[in-house]
Amino acid sequence: TDTFGIQQALSKLGIQDINNGTSTGTASFANGELIESYSPVDGTLIAKVTASTPDDYQAVMAKAEEAFKAWRLVPAPKRGEIVRQMGNELRKFKEPLGQLVSYEMGKSLQEGLGEVQEMIDICDFAVGLSRQLYGLTMHSERPLHRMYEQWHPMGIVGIISAFNFPVAVWSWNAMLALVCGDVFVWKPSSKTPLCAVACQNIIKGVLERNEIPEGVCSLVTGEACNELINNDKRIPLISFTGSTRVGRHVSKTVAERFGKTILELGGNNAIIVSEHADLSMVLVGAVFGAVGTAGQRCTTTRRLIIHESMYDKTVAVLKSAYAQLKIGNPLDSNNHVGPLIDKTAVQSFLTAIENAKAEGGTVIYGGGITEGDGYESGCYVNPCIIEAKNEYKVVQEETFAPILYLIKYSTIEEAIELQNGVPQGLSSSIFTNSMREMELFLSQSGSDCGIANVNIGTSGAEIGGAFGGEKETGGGRESGSDAWRAYMRRQTNTINYGSQLPLAQGIRFDL
Ligand code: NAD
Repeated sequence: TDTFGIQQALSKLGIQDINNGTSTGTASFANGELIESYSPVDGTLIAKVTASTPDDYQAVMAKAEEAFKAWRLVPAPKRGEIVRQMGNELRKFKEPLGQLVSYEMGKSLQEGLGEVQEMIDICDFAVGLSRQLYGLTMHSERPLHRMYEQWHPMGIVGIISAFNFPVAVWSWNAMLALVCGDVFVWKPSSKTPLCAVACQNIIKGVLERNEIPEGVCSLVTGEACNELINNDKRIPLISFTGSTRVGRHVSKTVAERFGKTILELGGNNAIIVSEHADLSMVLVGAVFGAVGTAGQRCTTTRRLIIHESMYDKTVAVLKSAYAQLKIGNPLDSNNHVGPLIDKTAVQSFLTAIENAKAEGGTVIYGGGITEGDGYESGCYVNPCIIEAKNEYKVVQEETFAPILYLIKYSTIEEAIELQNGVPQGLSSSIFTNSMREMELFLSQSGSDCGIANVNIGTSGAEIGGAFGGEKETGGGRESGSDAWRAYMRRQTNTINYGSQLPLAQGIRFDL
């Protein structure tokens, strides 16, 4: 029985034989242990993927180094053409890849398909960008001189990604890196290795048809590769998406060798519910924000900062909305909340609730594991709402699960201070119809986050904007706007077309 078409999806994606996984895109480079990928949806062992050994890693890097020498010479619009073809392949495989994302990671099918749509969108964006990698020209202070800057490819980009966006985060980085003339080595989360193998399979045909050298798009798998990448001087840029704890280590290690990083780390996102908010809009934004992807988005709404006059009403509507949530198989579109990624995540959820209670918090809805028919994987939990204080240790941390903390405020200034009063700085939002509050929230004395929204929730983002956050979220920016610059090196050029050699700042050096 293949109720949700998973076996068919796996076969379309070239992941057929259990116990016979692939890695690196070239099977000869995968000789390590087998990584088992279990679905949090039903606990099934989906397939095993052969991890890369340190020797495999070195072989991949040697190929990548060679490939970069060729790829950087391909004109940027031609590189864009390759990315355009990749976008078309993703269109063809949207359905099965979305299904696999849902089944291996546990997010709803709609969100799985949405993730693939994001990949398609970033391909389109990158194609346009391939003709717009602009540098400035500037006026030289010296006569008969011309000055400008240009952007060159950087080299091999290391992409280390988290389990919760197992395909989109790769594409944000990969597609920009490719048009910028970089090659990449991707090390996905070992919790979602099949999604990575599927992506590699999808783009393989494009690479082969266009005779792109092996090593432009590489995949390595397994935890042994992490430190190899962090310490590898041949990798000038690492784009790391994951927890603040691991990101801090990556950041230090890479900085030690003067490598660059794009860090996309944890969030602790809040919605301010003003006395001037439209509560029906808050409801959709807050509930989807808090329980969508079972609270496993970096932009998940973790705190609701509610005006005291709105508090009781908000609590009442939230409770009744939570009571209607259907928890279950995310491939079934009737369900709102799928599983957490694994039992360790379930344990963190339970521990956080206990810690909140110990600090004085009151659970006003949910909590606990969901058990019984359909929940055999042991990864389903009951989304939880807790009345809390912003300063609680547990509220200051990101627990990657559906826990929503409610906090009361009386003035807008206090609300903004609470919103900013956490170590993370990813996404933030205010629901208000007051122009004054809205503008204050968006002003330099407002939200300190990389993303600040008005009358939409904290979660979800469009690829056109630069995505990322401040403080312990790491400061990186990916995706739209001018995020591409992080993938290139800037060079300032001055050309003297005169017959004298005047020095800058009028310095004289007579010989
Ligand atoms: P994680 O930190 O456990 O793992 C992330 C990646 O780092 C994985 O590929 C893992 O194998 C790898 N890794 C582990 N040890 C490493 C080391 N020593 N050196 C280098 N890499 C190492 O995170 P996770 O549980 O997979 O993902 C959830 C976290 O990611 C949350 O904190 C979430 O907020 C964050 N996240 C952030 C964004 C963002 O854009 N800001 C997006 C998605 C997820």
